[in-house]
Amino acid sequence: MRIGIGYDSHRLVAGRRLILGGVEIPFDKGLIGHSDADVLCHAIIDAILGALGLGDIGKQFPDTDPQWKDASSVRLLGHVVELMRSSGYEALWIDGIVIAEKPRLAPHIEDMKRSLSRSGIPSAVINIKAKTNEGMGFVGKGEGIAAYAVCLLRKIE
Ligand code: MG
Repeated sequence: MRIGIGYDSHRLVAGRRLILGGVEIPFDKGLIGHSDADVLCHAIIDAILGALGLGDIGKQFPDTDPQWKDASSVRLLGHVVELMRSSGYEALWIDGIVIAEKPRLAPHIEDMKRSLSRSGIPSAVINIKAKTNEGMGFVGKGEGIAAYAVCLLRKIE
């Protein structure tokens, strides 16, 4: 068994779509980044890469590489799931937290799980939680959104 932890945050700005867990969420701002800036996907990617001992998202998908510009993060996650399988591991459980003051994310959680499962990880082994930051810090002020994820992988061969 291997465990991994991931964290990510991105800045909220006007004029960008808000994509979380592969779902476009109606809001007047979106997250800015080289890809679609999906913090939840990025935290899950880092958790899995951590468990595999393969560094982090910046090492796998350098932001200097034009191939990843505005890339769908679920597609990046799918690439990491392929790396996981070729390393001989499967995901037993993924648990994630998205921390956003606004908008309200609870109604979108089942959609996020479905969307994340397009990467090849069954939604039955994904749990997602949404929290606010009680008005504190950069998340509380609405300057950005953060996410944490942990994963448990099992060697399959
Ligand atoms: Mg990121």
